[in-house]
Amino acid sequence: MEILVTGGCGYIGSHTAVSLLEAGYDVIIVDNLCNSKMDVIDSIKKITGKDVKFYKGNVCDYALINKIFSHHKIAAVLHFAGLKAVGESVSKPLLYYRNNIDSTLNLLEVMTKYNCKNIVFSSSATVYGSPQTLPIKEDAPLTTTNPYGSTKLYIEGILKDVYTADNDWNITILRYFNPLGAHKSGLIGENPNGIPNNLMPYIIKVATGELPILNIFGNDYDTPDGTGVRDYIHITDLANGHIKALEEVLKGSGLKYYNLGTGKGYSVLELVKTFEQVNNVKVPYQIVDRRPGDIAACYADPSSVYQCLGWKAELNLEDMCRDAYNYVIKTK
Ligand code: NAD
Ligand code: UDP
Repeated sequence: MEILVTGGCGYIGSHTAVSLLEAGYDVIIVDNLCNSKMDVIDSIKKITGKDVKFYKGNVCDYALINKIFSHHKIAAVLHFAGLKAVGESVSKPLLYYRNNIDSTLNLLEVMTKYNCKNIVFSSSATVYGSPQTLPIKEDAPLTTTNPYGSTKLYIEGILKDVYTADNDWNITILRYFNPLGAHKSGLIGENPNGIPNNLMPYIIKVATGELPILNIFGNDYDTPDGTGVRDYIHITDLANGHIKALEEVLKGSGLKYYNLGTGKGYSVLELVKTFEQVNNVKVPYQIVDRRPGDIAACYADPSSVYQCLGWKAELNLEDMCRDAYNYVIKTK
């Protein structure tokens, strides 16, 4: 059965492509490589021993998406393609709206034309804004604080309208918490260029000596040790969650929303300490001012996805720290 994976060369898409191939699906990837490299395709093939079809191009390109659908009998789409840097979205909002929303509209139009009405969409816990209640349930109030988050919320709204207009669609919206780690082979993972915005890539660059010191953004939050608390989830668990969501979509599930998180929050200091212990390295740090826009704590209530899909995270923070570092050391 052929599944189209948009953004399949990226961090989450590549791990999910591996899980799909291992589960016996045929995978077609479309990616314009604006935030990834083509050698990911070879790594996916190496890990799985299976072939994957790759189209280099933009999901905003109607002719390209039309061509893909005309050449393949696509049963469902996993839609990862999108720009995701919060800071950049504040300085370049039009780029984010154009890329993330246009690509989705284009995709949905071509899917409608070919009567392929099964889609799993990558949303984010960012749509919960600053949560009033923890842990966060799927029916919590939604709001965003930056253009990136707004693209996710608008796309969720577009998908809901599409479903309302035509109940033949099966649409699952997955709201990810904080994915970390890498495939255990060390062949795919996450290693952004330049100075990272996110915590784990920054920790790794300090551990490898590429950056001198980790700045911890505030230790005066209302959390057990004062540093920010997040729900970190292993990328392999996240990828496997997509397989469960896809299975449900293919059975005809209507419109569904699920949190993909572990349900447990860890502080910045806990993550740093665990990373140091597991990898036997030092991560010097200093406490600096809070980062504007950050929230104190954010973690999921993943009970709905467990009840409905039987999915729960299996790997722990040690696995995330070990696998994240292993990937970077191996590809250095
Ligand atoms: P990523 O940047 O590693 O992967 C996205 C991929 O999409 C990249 O390979 C990029 O080249 C491609 N792409 C972007 N725009 C495209 C376009 N118009 N046409 C074709 N390809 C395009 O990001 P990721 O971490 O793998 O995230 C995947 C999805 O999950 C994104 O939609 C992101 O917003 C969402 N998400 C990510 C996180 C996270 O922490 N990583 C959290 C919540 C949600
Ligand atoms: N953080 C930090 N130093 C960094 C990057 C992040 O202290 O260099 C903190 C941040 O304040 C938050 C947590 O680490 O409490 C996770 O941040 P990240 O940017 O990885 O994810 P998000 O804020 O999107 O949940």
